[in-house]
Amino acid sequence: MADTAGVKIHPAVDNGIRPAAAGFAGGELHCRCATNPVRVRVNAQTAHNHVCGCTKCWKPEGAIFSQVAVVSRDAVEVVANADKLEVVNKDAPIQRYACKGCGAHLYGRIENKDHPFYGLDFVHTELSDQQGWAAPEFAAFVSSVIESGVSPDRMPAIRARLRELGLEPYDALSPPLMDAIATHVAKRSGKLAA
Ligand SMILES: [Zn+2]
Ligand SMILES: [Zn+2]
Repeated sequence: MADTAGVKIHPAVDNGIRPAAAGFAGGELHCRCATNPVRVRVNAQTAHNHVCGCTKCWKPEGAIFSQVAVVSRDAVEVVANADKLEVVNKDAPIQRYACKGCGAHLYGRIENKDHPFYGLDFVHTELSDQQGWAAPEFAAFVSSVIESGVSPDRMPAIRARLRELGLEPYDALSPPLMDAIATHVAKRSGKLAA
């Protein structure tokens, strides 16, 4: 069994995971600028919250994973300082809107209607002062942390720590999300009835 002492994943999970609050119906995210922060209303509870090891999701300073959840794009509304937002990479499937001042990503949006996750925005609920958001449920793209410079020797301890936290480690998305993507593809190709 790998020694998990001192393994840091993300500030939102390192000291234990806070459960979602029953009836929680959303709140506000804000970037990390001390003045004129970008503020985004999320008018619903989020879903599929998870920690992600990919190199594209926004991570707070020092964290090796991001924490990211989805919510209907209709529920997301920029309410202040929208002029500070810019898309990190316009060619990426997910258009990640980041603050030019502090670098935090406020939301990620998919414009391609054929994308399996079209209609969902990606948000980092740690940017909210409210508590009660959906709790992280699993760890995605775990092997990808090596691409951001984590030594491969550390992976057994990182995976053990994720399991200790109840965040099953996957090297892609979780099985229900991978199945949802494959179902979308099969319906488009006609292998499954639409
Ligand atoms: Zn900012
Ligand atoms: Zn990611």
